[in-house]
Amino acid sequence: MKLILLGPPGAGKGTQARRLMDEHGIPQLSTGDMLRAAVASGSSIGKMAKEVMDRGELVSDDIIVGMIAERIDEADCANGFILDGFPRSLAQAEALDAMLAERGLKLDHVIEMAVDDEALVERITGRFTCANCGAGYHDRFQRPKVDGVCDSCGGTEFKRRADDNEETVRSRLKVYHDQTAPLLPYYREKGVLSEVDGMAPIDEVTRQLRSVINGG
Ligand code: AMP
Repeated sequence: MKLILLGPPGAGKGTQARRLMDEHGIPQLSTGDMLRAAVASGSSIGKMAKEVMDRGELVSDDIIVGMIAERIDEADCANGFILDGFPRSLAQAEALDAMLAERGLKLDHVIEMAVDDEALVERITGRFTCANCGAGYHDRFQRPKVDGVCDSCGGTEFKRRADDNEETVRSRLKVYHDQTAPLLPYYREKGVLSEVDGMAPIDEVTRQLRSVINGG
């Protein structure tokens, strides 16, 4: 299965992609995670990307498209993948179409996760993850059962993304509306777009996604 989760930052794409990945045995390909790994490693791509990411803007299409093209040729993508945070512009969507066509592949679903902007600012500015296992938490909506201790692995170190502050979040939302939202009519015309209610509780969103994927 080849799936795109499309939605603004904070819509829950990463959370849902991880759940679907476990159910379907296919990887989550998050360009944001790949870029953060590049920044952490101090590579030349990472150095270039960091400033752009800190401003909440988009890293150049060439870099992103190159990363995805390499990644989908890896063995774990043989049965499909879940794209999270890619494509984010029409140029990226067209590059993805070409990349898939070259390999004789096609998208099964593009699913929009629809969420209100104000809810997104609150969701994003309060989120943090376990530095050890990556489990996600939120200051208001999902605190660890024991303060300071990860429910999943017992880790005691947590981290917040550098770009999850209010100013950068507002710029990321503007970029979403200007550059990524035009992908909705693009995929609607191709007949592959569905929508789920990203404002619903996490389990309900998963249920709606399963229903789209299973054709229910
Ligand atoms: P994300 O983790 O998906 O919210 O991405 C974090 C940041 O990485 C974004 O605000 C962009 O600066 C950059 N980024 C991630 N994916 C892309 C993409 N497909 N195209 C351009 N920039 C991206």
